[in-house]
Amino acid sequence: MAIKRNILLNPGPATTTDTVKMAQIVPDICPREKEFANILEQLQKDLVRIVHGSDEYTSVFFCGSGTINMDVCLNSLLPENKKILVINNGAYSTRAVEICKCYSLPHIEMKIPVDERPNLAAVEEMLKNNSDIHLVYTTHNETGTGLLNPIREIGELSHKYNCVFTVDTTSTYAMLPIDVEKDCIDFCMASAQKGIMGMTGLSYVVGKTKLIEESKNYPKRSYYCNLYLQYEYFVRYRQMQFTPPVQTIYAARQAIEEFFKEGETQKYQRHARVNEAIHKGLKELGFKEFIKKELQAGLVASAIYPNDKNWDFEKVHDYCYERGFTIYPGKISGMETFRLCSFGAIDVPDIENFFAVFKKALEHCNVAVPIKY
Ligand SMILES: *Cc1c(COP(=O)(O)O)cnc(C)c1O
Repeated sequence: MAIKRNILLNPGPATTTDTVKMAQIVPDICPREKEFANILEQLQKDLVRIVHGSDEYTSVFFCGSGTINMDVCLNSLLPENKKILVINNGAYSTRAVEICKCYSLPHIEMKIPVDERPNLAAVEEMLKNNSDIHLVYTTHNETGTGLLNPIREIGELSHKYNCVFTVDTTSTYAMLPIDVEKDCIDFCMASAQKGIMGMTGLSYVVGKTKLIEESKNYPKRSYYCNLYLQYEYFVRYRQMQFTPPVQTIYAARQAIEEFFKEGETQKYQRHARVNEAIHKGLKELGFKEFIKKELQAGLVASAIYPNDKNWDFEKVHDYCYERGFTIYPGKISGMETFRLCSFGAIDVPDIENFFAVFKKALEHCNVAVPIKY
């Protein structure tokens, strides 16, 4: 069966291989069977292995998109009378703040401009002056812009002040090398449709078992989305508490096999050369990027809209979409950008083909090249 290959330059879901797509076609199975439990158990270990966790770490599955992990970590890991510090320089950390508000979780929002990294001295000062902070939260790659945060340094500071460090690695996990021990990460998270290049519907938190067990008696703020409850159920029954996304899990298993086959470093290098090809293509057309290159994670390029009356993102998007390439709007308030991401099972020739089409789209819309600002 031939499946049309689309090149997704949006920030997930990402382009997948045909073998991952086809891995979903399996005989019907009840997920309470031992055969399925064995698959989940292996998946649980592999997800920890991807970020080099020792046996002090475990992973916990949830059925949902990546935001479910953020919800789970924030609502489950906060003891009574303690606070969360959210270091916020982008749309995803803003989402974390919204989750805190939604659950009325005591929190401090440390707001930083979206094109800057946090000042570590200011983070330290915050932790020193607020001994009731228990959980420090930030985003590794702010996918809305492509800015990379210094998680190892923030993790070290968190531990220096006896805080638990949780980082949203949804858009870096299995793309940039992450080492939970060296990076001082207590909890990180990801979703199967991003780094591992699987399907949507399965998300996972990787974290320290001891800290999950300590959270047993923390206030329960959600029934479905509680970290301890889901963890404990799996330990006891080797099953997810509620119906898992069965076919997505088969695809994830195949995707992980392909991840280890490609290799962490080789995969990272592939994403890096795809990203370089994107920078080159944008530059050749005269596009300016929003985030300084040295601050980028190397996985998302945010290009600023041209100052050209003929520029119409929708039109350019549609032209490319009809030809098998998907581009995506930015996520920055007060600044109009679009994004080209180097996630997924793609390589440099795909980007060269994309730019040939993108250039035609600009011509088609009478947008001046080089781009005007
Ligand atoms: C994609 C992503 C998420 C999850 O978004 P969903 O739409 O819920 O899958 C969370 N955090 C970051 C940084 C992301 O890139």
